[in-house]
Amino acid sequence: MTSVPSWGPDFAALEAVDPDIARILLEERDRLNNGLQLIASENFTSPAVLAALGSTLSNKYAEGYPGRRYYGGCEVVDEAENLGIERAKALFGADHANLQPHSGASANIAVYGAFMKPGETVLAMSLPHGGHLTHGTKVSFSGKWFNAVHYGVSPKTEDIDYDQMRDLAHEHRPKMIICGGSAIPRLIDFAAFRAVADEVGAILMVDAAHFIGLVAGRAIPSPVPYADVVTFTTHKVLRGPRGGMLVCKAEHAAALDKAVFPMMQGGPLMHAVAAKAVALKEAATPAYQTYARQVVLNAQALAEGLAAEGMRPVSGGTDTHLALIDLQGVGVTGADAEARCDVARITLNKNSIPFDPQPPSVGSGIRVGTPAVTTQGMTEPDMKEIAGLIGRAVRDADGSAAADVRAAVGVMVGAHPAYPRP
Ligand SMILES: *Cc1c(COP(=O)(O)O)cnc(C)c1O
Repeated sequence: MTSVPSWGPDFAALEAVDPDIARILLEERDRLNNGLQLIASENFTSPAVLAALGSTLSNKYAEGYPGRRYYGGCEVVDEAENLGIERAKALFGADHANLQPHSGASANIAVYGAFMKPGETVLAMSLPHGGHLTHGTKVSFSGKWFNAVHYGVSPKTEDIDYDQMRDLAHEHRPKMIICGGSAIPRLIDFAAFRAVADEVGAILMVDAAHFIGLVAGRAIPSPVPYADVVTFTTHKVLRGPRGGMLVCKAEHAAALDKAVFPMMQGGPLMHAVAAKAVALKEAATPAYQTYARQVVLNAQALAEGLAAEGMRPVSGGTDTHLALIDLQGVGVTGADAEARCDVARITLNKNSIPFDPQPPSVGSGIRVGTPAVTTQGMTEPDMKEIAGLIGRAVRDADGSAAADVRAAVGVMVGAHPAYPRP
């Protein structure tokens, strides 16, 4: 980085105070630079976002909302939050935005808090079919405190079973219906969900954590016109700081604001709120729209390349930034594939596939995503090369190919560094 003001991110100060953590920061930067990052929920934030995160805004207590705080001295941070809110409303065409949720899970907790009482029914996508822990799984508050009913994908199409979803909605009359998840490669029919929600008088929440960046970049259709509330993370395709956000219809603004604070959270992380504002500004540019389209093209190229390696994309491919890959055809489990790729410096995750015969700790599949490699400037030919490297790594039971694959990965990332080298 070039000149940094003394009150801002100051690496020399960190090295002087805490050489251990300073070393770890450099090691992690090198890990990011030296490998292929294919975790579908990860990305590389810009230096501008990192600068806002490492700022004195971390010091400020600002419980409440701009102009209505419980602390003095908020006039400066109010400007940051107001800018972020206005940018979010403009970018997503939303009536209202709340930038304070500390994470995607926190945003979801707030939505339950705003609309549901303990014991009431929620209908959502099942986790093993691509949903999320906060959508009513037993280990989560959402499954412990609410009555969760789950739809899944159809065995034939491996896409959402809309008929099953509608039947379950009529049978259970849920207070809220959730769509979205962590391993859904296909576009979601938001109009179909809206229609069912209206038929049974349910709130429609879209959990857009994974794909909101593609919406921001105009690469896929927006859920905002259909949903009562859209929650999301800011650190996945959207490429902002680690955190959560929500946008909603005007009629729900007061209830959701109260549910975020004071019902579910204390003081907001104003450095993160400012960094979200920066990311929203970046996401409104033509360059980001080009990026978002390339993320999808790359995911499609990667899925095709993996299919050519004998690894089947669930549902036949992808419309988004991620592909779910069934490894049963090559006789390797998700857990083994993840470990073999790790050795070769290809970072991805094992994943359950729909109707998986393996337990979640093993899984029959992997999930791959292209947000990070696309930020690095890689394009379709690179994806074909990555698919070939994954194919070699996954089949490499005795580890004999690992050094070769690692060297090839090194050449690829050397041409496309994630962050400036020292
Ligand atoms: C990532 C994700 C979340 C949770 O985000 P955190 O910031 O990790 O709490 C919620 N819902 C979905 C669908 C996600 O993919």
